[in-house]
Amino acid sequence: MKPESEYERVENLIIGSGPAGYTAAIYAARADLKPVVYQGMQPGGQLTGTTEVDNFPGYPNGVQGPDMMLDLQHQAERFGANLRWGVITEVDFSKRPFKVVTDDDKVILADTVIIATGATAKYIGLESEVRYIGHGVSACATCDGFFYRGQDVAIVGGGDTAAEEAIYLSKMTRKVYMIVRRDELRASKAMQHRVMNIPNIEILWNHKPQEILGDGKVVTGVLLENVKTGETREIEVQGYFVAIGHAPNTQIFKGQIDLNENGYINTIPGTTQTNIPGVFAAGDVQDHVFRQAITAAGTGCMAAIEAERYLSEVRSTSESQVMNMAK
Ligand code: NDP
Repeated sequence: MKPESEYERVENLIIGSGPAGYTAAIYAARADLKPVVYQGMQPGGQLTGTTEVDNFPGYPNGVQGPDMMLDLQHQAERFGANLRWGVITEVDFSKRPFKVVTDDDKVILADTVIIATGATAKYIGLESEVRYIGHGVSACATCDGFFYRGQDVAIVGGGDTAAEEAIYLSKMTRKVYMIVRRDELRASKAMQHRVMNIPNIEILWNHKPQEILGDGKVVTGVLLENVKTGETREIEVQGYFVAIGHAPNTQIFKGQIDLNENGYINTIPGTTQTNIPGVFAAGDVQDHVFRQAITAAGTGCMAAIEAERYLSEVRSTSESQVMNMAK
């Protein structure tokens, strides 16, 4: 680690570079907070792994996910945000300024921190799943369901997300196979009731995917195993969706900040404030419900505005303390 004299001091540090991180950077730069953004392992975030994005306002003809993230990046750079390749490996929020360490052992002292590290969709872990990501395999029905209009699709999982996405898919596709590894759903009773009453959703109980089948370019089906009997069967589908949960990227914040039981950062409702004044959280790292690029961008904007207000308050408080001492 570098000696203390070499620590860098910044007003605003943004960790993460999805729609939340970049939007926070745009607002923070325009508010003259001179934000420094650590882009993380996947600059641009989850959207760089998708193809067409049709639901982000402002792109009437749709946009490729990676292109959209480049647009956001360029917009942040235009206002002077300092974007850096690199990963934050350690944080210390116990005293101010907050201390963070980068993967090249640089130490940064920050007056405010905006956490926008996102979440990572969980996949089953099949090699064939990875091969067809973006070519029939997706972890977001709201983002990609549209491309399978009139076709047959499968969705794995039995929680609220899988149920919600199965319902969404049922409205535009011909048939939805819901692949559930047990003989019951984890989803709420209300969602279970809805799923079970939609004629074009067929639940395949006690099944798990064994392999995603394809022609080398796109998905053509799924090989399933009945976990009770060991029997296998193939279903023909053009789309394979996974909805078995997301894991928030909060490993480095454990013990430093309040997380909920699933590891998401707790924020004060209606704000991006965490339990540590001066540390804010935006995007999927604090939102397990909506998880959309536009909602992430919205909370990124909120975090930058709140960081600016926090800094103004801290400054005016310390100025009045100095004035009182001088009296
Ligand atoms: P959950 O953890 O609730 O459900 C995950 C589902 O995926 C379970 O059915 C689980 O099976 C299954 N699963 C997990 N791992 C595997 C695997 N390796 N192979 C096959 N199946 C697997 O995640 P969700 O994303 O659905 O929900 C997360 C949280 O968000 C929940 O609290 C949920 O209630 C909430 N939520 C709320 C919504 C709303 O209020 N509108 C909408 C969406 C989510 P098993 O049951 O056997 O463990």
